[in-house]
Amino acid sequence: MSKIICSAAIRGAHKIVDMAEEKYEEALKKYGADQEVSLPNTAYFLPIIYSMLGAKVEKIGDMKDIFQECRTLLPDLVSEHNWLPYLAPALDAGMATYFAEEMYEAIRYIETPDFYTKTEEPTDSNLWLGAADDVIFRKRGVEFVDGSAPGFAAIVGAPDDKEVASRIALELQEKNLYIFMHDHSVNGKNMSQQLVDNGVQVGWNTRLVPFADNYTSVVFSIGFACRVAMAFGGIKPGDFRGNLIYNKDRTFAFVMAFGKVSDEWYANAAGAFNWGFPTISDYDIPEVLPTGICTYEHVVSNVPHEEFVQKAIEVRGLKVNVTKIDIPMSFGPAFEGERIRKDDLFMECGGGRTTGVEVLISKEMDEVEDGLVTLEGKDISDIKQGENLPISILVEVAGREMQSDFEPILERQFHHLMNYIQGIMHIGQRDIMWIRIGHGAVEKGFSFKHLGKVLHGKLHQEFGAILDKVQVKISTVQETVEQVMAMAKETYAERDLRLGNMTDETEEVFYSCTLCQSFAPSHVCVITPERVGMCGAYNWLDGKASYQINPTGPNQPIEKGECTDAELGDFIGINEFVNQASRGAVPEVSCYSLMNNPMTACGCFEAIAAMLPQCNGIMVVNRDYMGMTPSGMKFTSLAGMAGGGAQTPGFMGVSKHYLTSRKLFMAEGGLKRVVWLPKILKDEISEKLKARCEEIGMPELYDMIATEEQGTTEEEILAFLKEKGHPALEMESAV
Ligand code: SF4
Repeated sequence: MSKIICSAAIRGAHKIVDMAEEKYEEALKKYGADQEVSLPNTAYFLPIIYSMLGAKVEKIGDMKDIFQECRTLLPDLVSEHNWLPYLAPALDAGMATYFAEEMYEAIRYIETPDFYTKTEEPTDSNLWLGAADDVIFRKRGVEFVDGSAPGFAAIVGAPDDKEVASRIALELQEKNLYIFMHDHSVNGKNMSQQLVDNGVQVGWNTRLVPFADNYTSVVFSIGFACRVAMAFGGIKPGDFRGNLIYNKDRTFAFVMAFGKVSDEWYANAAGAFNWGFPTISDYDIPEVLPTGICTYEHVVSNVPHEEFVQKAIEVRGLKVNVTKIDIPMSFGPAFEGERIRKDDLFMECGGGRTTGVEVLISKEMDEVEDGLVTLEGKDISDIKQGENLPISILVEVAGREMQSDFEPILERQFHHLMNYIQGIMHIGQRDIMWIRIGHGAVEKGFSFKHLGKVLHGKLHQEFGAILDKVQVKISTVQETVEQVMAMAKETYAERDLRLGNMTDETEEVFYSCTLCQSFAPSHVCVITPERVGMCGAYNWLDGKASYQINPTGPNQPIEKGECTDAELGDFIGINEFVNQASRGAVPEVSCYSLMNNPMTACGCFEAIAAMLPQCNGIMVVNRDYMGMTPSGMKFTSLAGMAGGGAQTPGFMGVSKHYLTSRKLFMAEGGLKRVVWLPKILKDEISEKLKARCEEIGMPELYDMIATEEQGTTEEEILAFLKEKGHPALEMESAV
């Protein structure tokens, strides 16, 4: 804890307790000890004192004991020498401050009954509302527990400019927060008056509450939080620990201080720390950054006004709650399985028609502006029907709990989230994503920016526990799309490398993925350390991380159980799981076979493997290759054979990564059985493929694998294989 802040807070607390006690002595003389004292129309007495100490201050005479408690709490003033930095004395000083201020304000209600309006809205002659009575409290306090108001910003002072004040107030309102305003800055400006001068309506109805033009009114904010804990949180009066923890965990409140910070403000800030409420200041004061009583930092200073709200939300750990996805199209799971057929199609992006890529990466907190959605290049309104565009969707996220391991899990959500939009169809992922936009969506006013709005809102809704900020950058400019593509490919490669030396034998647990069941209801991907999900987007570690984030989600651990055939990859536990997860449609699956109970496929596979009977070998074609294959079918026709969640021996969806796995087609003889790949795919995986050929003792195999350059019919390929002496020709028949 900063010595400067501690010293000032303790100094301020002494001044405040002295001032309040003087006021008490005067009131005692003037009104007598039996004079009733209270805040207006409340059953919670002086709520901070009642909630912390369980003491009911009903008469002026009752204040004597509380002042004694204040004196006990007040630490000695900090000396120049022998100072031990220590948070506790400052917290105690802050607590004494609030007790003293609450009694000071209660006496004010006796002395000057009309000082505050005691209403929900200001009157023509008085802006200051004072403490909320129980009618207002019940109406508003419930919003702090039903989620419609996550908390409040207690503002002291004001920025210099009323426009800035209005913008900050609006930003806070947009986060559904209450804005409790107190005191004025050294220049005499208070935020309540600035808002009124700028034509902004203040009062409880707009959540812009002008409590008072003095710092002692901060107790109305803190007292409100204490009452919420007692009334709605079941915290008993006197259970100070329960009340403080309840507010720290449940009430997302913070102090915003504008301008020079006085000793008295420091004392109030130190008091707020007790409840876990940090202070954000625009002034050059020392910071208190280590986590302690507050969830994260205690004091963050020198914050520019344009970053004020974002910083406060970040420091307090407030989770953004996006309740409505503001787009003109209908939206929801009901549209997830919707197809955009040829006649409905307005345009498309990616999917081999144009360059398309989507990627999610994590960044530092100050690198992400929550809610920012940008579009570079042409939008739907700028093009005619049939004019396809390249697209890159770059989502950057930040969060205190975010880990880079979670990136692929969040990224894989894009698929179903974009499919939730009526009139939009999303297929694939990563650099093989494909979006089809239907006429219906265009007629309703679709813009590419709506994809960003959906991703921002839904990622917050579904992953609020790990995410604090989400920004989305969309581009339809070829050059930018290619830059994002290059960055994304590096990211994908790093993710794929993380599996290191893990093998299917070293792990007892594999992971399922049923994310694609919306398109293929009986489909289950079994993800093993050596077999990435067929979309290429989920490896074993991703499955594990996804299960950590969402234990009831689409990635469940599967105890693989006894292995009944190591070559086929038959495991008792896997069969039981797949049978149950496919609702009996797939009773058995062989993890390493194309011909015997192959894994089902949805439609998101990166590539398709198919048996070529004449060649006694296997071809694999990736989604980007549009030409004919030796199977007599193009990718799209093959996708119809392999997809849909059915087991079709001889056809199977695979990821590109799986092609260099040691478990590739093990039941059929492994890599030695591969006879044909499109050149684009062979080139893409050439490094790993050559390494794998060397590993199996056949470096010459790489050149024996044909591409379309050698032929696109079985006859052409067979002639090539014979010429090269491909090992598949010597292997036992796979059919
Ligand atoms: S293809 Fe498989 S691993 Fe990928 S998202 Fe679909 S079900 Fe999951």
